[in-house]
Amino acid sequence: MSTTPLAPAPIKPAKTPKVGIVSLGCPKALVDSERIITRLRAEGYQIAPDYAGADLVLVNTCGFLDSARDESLAAIGEAIEANGKVIVTGCLGAEPDVIQRAHPKVLAVTGPHQYEAVMDAVHTHLTPPHNPHLDLVPESGLRLTPRHYAYLKISEGCNNRCSFCIIPALRGDLVSRPAADVLREAERLVKAGVKELLVISQDTSAYGVDVKYSESRWRDHDVRAKFIDLSRELGTLGAWVRLHYVYPYPHVDEVIPLMAEGKILPYLDIPFQHASPRILKAMRRPASQAKTLDRIRRWRDICPDLAIRSTFIVGFPGETDAEFDELLAWLEEAKIDRLGCFKYEPVAGALANALPDPVPEEVKEARWHRLMKVQQAISAKRLRDKVGRRIPVIIDESNGRTAKGRSMWDAPDIDGSVHLTSRLPVRAGEIVTVRIERSDAYDLHGQVA
Ligand code: SF4
Repeated sequence: MSTTPLAPAPIKPAKTPKVGIVSLGCPKALVDSERIITRLRAEGYQIAPDYAGADLVLVNTCGFLDSARDESLAAIGEAIEANGKVIVTGCLGAEPDVIQRAHPKVLAVTGPHQYEAVMDAVHTHLTPPHNPHLDLVPESGLRLTPRHYAYLKISEGCNNRCSFCIIPALRGDLVSRPAADVLREAERLVKAGVKELLVISQDTSAYGVDVKYSESRWRDHDVRAKFIDLSRELGTLGAWVRLHYVYPYPHVDEVIPLMAEGKILPYLDIPFQHASPRILKAMRRPASQAKTLDRIRRWRDICPDLAIRSTFIVGFPGETDAEFDELLAWLEEAKIDRLGCFKYEPVAGALANALPDPVPEEVKEARWHRLMKVQQAISAKRLRDKVGRRIPVIIDESNGRTAKGRSMWDAPDIDGSVHLTSRLPVRAGEIVTVRIERSDAYDLHGQVA
């Protein structure tokens, strides 16, 4: 997707040019925003904290679900109203017609992870300063997350073709980064104070398939661009390493011993999406959930502390009552620790839209509530089992002697928290040992031991 400039004359501000950033969507989009910010700062632009202080605004959009598209279009409208000079990038940028129809005043539109195109658009509409202060950019780049954790993107795009998803159409096939690149970035982040690395991509376990697991030189040895090899090397950096968006391929089994040895966090974010083989087939996902149950049991035998986070879709076209019950029964067996559930929404351009027998909205709603109720009981029980243990907790927010943090079983923003008290003040980013005293449906409570 090429840049689409719509206004000719670049703005020439008297002072340092300032760019405002609105970042919508998933952690992958957040990483894109961070890269853009790093480039902007490297070239001497400043980042404006609000619309009023910005010479132009960059909106990084999400286009996955219709609701996300609506949110993106609303955010673009808000930025135009508040500032007037707006460049759009990100997933929805793959459809410039949609954006320009809704907001003809947008200056330029670029697609997802088109960093060069975004920078060209910024240069066109806001002249870069003459003397960029390169030394103002920290070696670790600039990040939108708190100082103590960072997302680490290992690849772009996806080779799967799940029928409800248009990400491969938006972002293309899998393109993996060389392992040495990823490791060097991870090393810089840890050196800059990051205590937790959140590994993300569209399909983390497929890492390296596109480059035939080719090796690259890191420190004094070659490292294959392979899920297990990268996980092992990341585990040597002295930070928490958390794996997200792991597609349930058989070789995921290999990483469990690393978790049992404490090299990486005992946490797997696997979007299973459903349990009925027929629905999984219609979704074009791996369809052997009975075998998956066996694998989950084996994983927990090897690593009893393993927490599994997953997402599911209810109300997929043609989902019968029996198939939904099959999903509930599977959940009871699998004992998924953390769960996100979506009501199926047709996404413009997705193959699943052509499937017969759409599920009525009220049935989707009822199924969503039933599933969340079942999950709440499972999650509450899993948390109750932690009471009495002493566990490491990373502090996210502190008021001195009371603080909120996360255990190794909780990813930021999507999972639960650990609420704690301490005799001595604690600081954000510290990892402390906490004795768990009680639990509720989502969170743990305890005292620094
Ligand atoms: S694995 Fe499926 S749902 Fe995830 S990005 Fe790829 S196609 Fe979409």
